[in-house]
Amino acid sequence: MTPTEQILSSKSEALIAKENQYGAHNYHPLPVVLERGEGVYVWDVDGKKYYDFLSAYSAVNQGHCHPKIIGAMVKQAQTLTLTSRAFYNDQLGVYEEYVTNYFGFDKVLPMNTGAEAVETALKLCRKWAYEVKGIPENEAQIIVCENNFHGRTTTIISFSNDESARKSFGPFTAGFIKIPYDDIEALSAVLKSTKNIAGFLVEPIQGEAGVYVPADDYLAKAKALCAEHNALFIADEVQTGIARTGRLLATCGNCSCEKGCENKPEVKPDILILGKAISGGVYPVSAVLANNEIMNVIKPGQHGSTFGGNPVAAAVAIAALEVVKDENLAQNAERLGVILRKGLNDIASRNPLITLVRGKGLLNAIVINCGEDSDLAWDICLKFRDYGLLAKPTHGNKIRLAPPLVITETQIQECLGIIEKALSEFE
Ligand SMILES: *Cc1c(COP(=O)(O)O)cnc(C)c1O
Repeated sequence: MTPTEQILSSKSEALIAKENQYGAHNYHPLPVVLERGEGVYVWDVDGKKYYDFLSAYSAVNQGHCHPKIIGAMVKQAQTLTLTSRAFYNDQLGVYEEYVTNYFGFDKVLPMNTGAEAVETALKLCRKWAYEVKGIPENEAQIIVCENNFHGRTTTIISFSNDESARKSFGPFTAGFIKIPYDDIEALSAVLKSTKNIAGFLVEPIQGEAGVYVPADDYLAKAKALCAEHNALFIADEVQTGIARTGRLLATCGNCSCEKGCENKPEVKPDILILGKAISGGVYPVSAVLANNEIMNVIKPGQHGSTFGGNPVAAAVAIAALEVVKDENLAQNAERLGVILRKGLNDIASRNPLITLVRGKGLLNAIVINCGEDSDLAWDICLKFRDYGLLAKPTHGNKIRLAPPLVITETQIQECLGIIEKALSEFE
């Protein structure tokens, strides 16, 4: 293959044209049309193989089409798919026991997508605030961070500061106070000065914003401040959870890894939000976990979802979580993350196009030496694609590098070679 830009096949062109004609234009995909995936690889419609360095925004941590997860899904799909929560089913309780033990909470509320789980957490936090903390009705405030990404529903975009997510979608939901991320003083000031704070919603690492890793003690201090002011500490681990950052959770010490978490104490959220990789990316599954004091404020009829907690989701999520433990994915992410960042920093030392490498475990980003409005990061991703690696820019000049956690050291080294070779063509 020539290093000049890959020409799309007529088959790819035709499929892209269909999406353009018949689908809403709410995404701007990289021009590659995929038809198959296995482990760390995906194949396009012409049979070309790529490393997947996006992992569907960290949903496919266990690798594409993991046989154990697919097996669980097929088996359950042939048996019973949906009862709604009007009736009990034989899978849900088993899953609820498994997932609550796995993460160390009393109860789970099952939903489908990440945004729904965030909505659920916000409702739960408000209800707790009124019924347990005693905030006067309609007065609850929830603190959030600037440059957050929690999904796309009307309430969630109400506290986004991404103009493209907000513009012309108002009026917005009230009751949110925005503070800078990774700024413990700002959190402390708002908690001290403002009445009726119900909780603090935070991403342990801001993924969409460009993989911003906060100070080592930020989450622990934030949790302590919340406890001091009787406000709930709500962790959105939809992207950072399920071993992605080298631990079962980015907030967590209670992971399964052999070496324990001696250098980082557990910061246990009052409400934990999970999605994406809780199903290994094979089915929409999300979850909100909390202890009884909080979760018991929800009574029949007050919240729910037709598909939430369906038998397929339950069976799939158990299998996907078992894979994380069976295959030591947290340890693998931690070990290979160190190797990936070292390799990227080596490339950065030879190539001024990379101005910064950051991340944790296998959630990483390189910052490209250009403005946020430049097309350079996009062009680099096209070049990565030509050489067989798929990644996508986030917020203009950052490229997230987040392969499935089943990747091996040899594969990481090969990918570093691809990245260096592609970047060298822009010097
Ligand atoms: C992806 C994501 C969401 C939203 O999940 P959807 O399944 O797309 O609704 C929420 N929070 C974070 C941190 C995410 O990365």
